[in-house]
Amino acid sequence: MFPEKTLAWGRSKSCIRELAAYGTARKAQVGADKVFDFSIGTPSVPAPPCVNETIKELLNTDSCALHGYTPAVGLPSLRKAIADDLNKNSSVQISPEYIYVCCGAAAGLVIALRAMLMPGEEAIAFAPFFPEYRVFTEGAGGNLVCVKPDEALQPDLEEFEKSITEKTKVVIINTPNNPSGVVLRADILRKMSAILKKAEEKYNHSIYLLSDEPYRELVYDGEPAPCVFDYYHNTVMCYSFSKSLSLSGERIGYLALSSEIEQEERDALFASVSGAARASGYVNAPSLMQRVIEKCIGATSDISVYKENRELLYNGLKELGFDCVYPDGAFYLFVKCPEKDAKAFSERAKKYELLLVPSDDFGVEGYVRVAYCVSADMIRRSMPAFKVLAEEYGLNLKK
Ligand code: PLP
Repeated sequence: MFPEKTLAWGRSKSCIRELAAYGTARKAQVGADKVFDFSIGTPSVPAPPCVNETIKELLNTDSCALHGYTPAVGLPSLRKAIADDLNKNSSVQISPEYIYVCCGAAAGLVIALRAMLMPGEEAIAFAPFFPEYRVFTEGAGGNLVCVKPDEALQPDLEEFEKSITEKTKVVIINTPNNPSGVVLRADILRKMSAILKKAEEKYNHSIYLLSDEPYRELVYDGEPAPCVFDYYHNTVMCYSFSKSLSLSGERIGYLALSSEIEQEERDALFASVSGAARASGYVNAPSLMQRVIEKCIGATSDISVYKENRELLYNGLKELGFDCVYPDGAFYLFVKCPEKDAKAFSERAKKYELLLVPSDDFGVEGYVRVAYCVSADMIRRSMPAFKVLAEEYGLNLKK
């Protein structure tokens, strides 16, 4: 016998990874250039030169120190570098003591949720959301409560307020958003904060805003994404270098606790974060990568490539009659399916070698996610396939 939940999570698989695995098999069958694989959010732009240069330099340093254990919380010099970097953009000054370096955003979320949730407590997430939130929350012994979006895929704040209960302990936000590309702007964050503060008073306990930000730098127009620390006191930020530095396989990121969390509570929460990481067996984030990040913090891959892809894909699909929200950030386009059943639409797209992730596991029905962290050439070559698909649904006739 095995635990029911782990068995179910293992058997159900991630819809994204399942489609990506299908893509790999299909490319082996028919040739890589015949398949239009928009399934997975792996960066398509190389890491900036400082990453490889720093790795080469580090290889000439003391091997035992380079590859050995680090403090569980991360190297002191890296924690300071992260705090300095954060403090450039935030009026709330973050202290290195409350930064926990971890294996990417996935580990950060798992650790934070384990650290905060008591059995049966609730985490609220705004649909559409990263499907792993459900697994991470349930794995931490909590329940995920889903708030449906409005027409523009922005959080529905009335629904949000109604969904808060005595059991609400965490509210997860993700900005810029996977899968919609929506960026939460200052007015929304201010309103969310007011709702949360009112609920904290009503229920007489803290409610934490867990801000998942692996796409923070991937904002293409206007102002950068607002810093969430500036809007709400009980904020825990979860950051990753997977996307900004194109290091998704290297597993490096961090958690940062706001200095506005009341001092005693902040110490206890940080201790609980350390305990959750310990109980998860993370030991420490990769030593080599910690040193690379310390040198490269503030740098990014060439994000302009994604901006060009966004234009190409969005304009191309709109021209064919597809309905999609213009994404402000991240590297995903969320496209409304021309039929109700997103899985059926995704299956039909496969006939034309188009791999599009159905939205059901993102907490909304009737959309597909198209990841545009791919080559511009593939986007161009995929257009005839999208055209046939659009024609099959008569989309071009409706224009
Ligand atoms: N959160 C969101 C919204 C994501 O899209 C991803 C990965 O795609 C993660 C978390 C996990 O990122 P990481 O690779 O840093 O674990």
